[in-house]
Amino acid sequence: MKIAEIFYSIQGEGSLAGVPSVFVRTSGCNLRCVWCDTPYTSWHPEGDDMTLEAILKRFDHYPQAGHVVLTGGEPMIAPQVVDLTKLFRERRLHITIETAGTVFKPVVCDLMSISPKLAHSTPAGPWQEPHERLRIQPDVLRRLMSEYPYQLKFVVSSPDDLQEIASLLDQLEADRSKVMLMPEGIDPATLRERAAWLAEICKREGFRYSPRLHVDLYGNTRGT
Ligand code: SF4
Repeated sequence: MKIAEIFYSIQGEGSLAGVPSVFVRTSGCNLRCVWCDTPYTSWHPEGDDMTLEAILKRFDHYPQAGHVVLTGGEPMIAPQVVDLTKLFRERRLHITIETAGTVFKPVVCDLMSISPKLAHSTPAGPWQEPHERLRIQPDVLRRLMSEYPYQLKFVVSSPDDLQEIASLLDQLEADRSKVMLMPEGIDPATLRERAAWLAEICKREGFRYSPRLHVDLYGNTRGT
């Protein structure tokens, strides 16, 4: 399994923001978001092939950790992802999977953190067509939402994105209390500017606002 990085940090996003967690970041993605904040797992995938045993061994460095976040890239396309989550369960870890929700696999998971990619994520060039075709998979989203505890986390770059979010939520008949809006941006200044209007939208629509604590704490750096 190609792994870009394994590190111990604070969960920065979503309903578990603030929880110390071990992050296992797989390398490789079936999408190519134009603003991808981990291009070393998508546009230019990097990393080392690791056995499941070698991945688990790294947890010996963090005996205090009760949470693991499997992220990417797109962890749901990683070979052996199902077996890896079973091993996490054997270690009694709380398992979050961060996914764009385009692929289903019968993983073991306590929180399916689904971040469907909106139209503003689509790049120009050769990746435009496959990205646009793949980015929303309603049947996969419905299955993930019905089989796991979940949150729907949208990256928002403009107030205009709300229309697309509303239409997708209607289509999915999603529980609005599980929806979180998060500003797009990889530096604290951009996040602050967008947080100002996004918080007002959350108040108006009844959605939860999600911070990006790791950017506030560490900036846009790898291994955080
Ligand atoms: S789905 Fe995630 S990892 Fe893949 S290109 Fe988009 S932001 Fe990057």
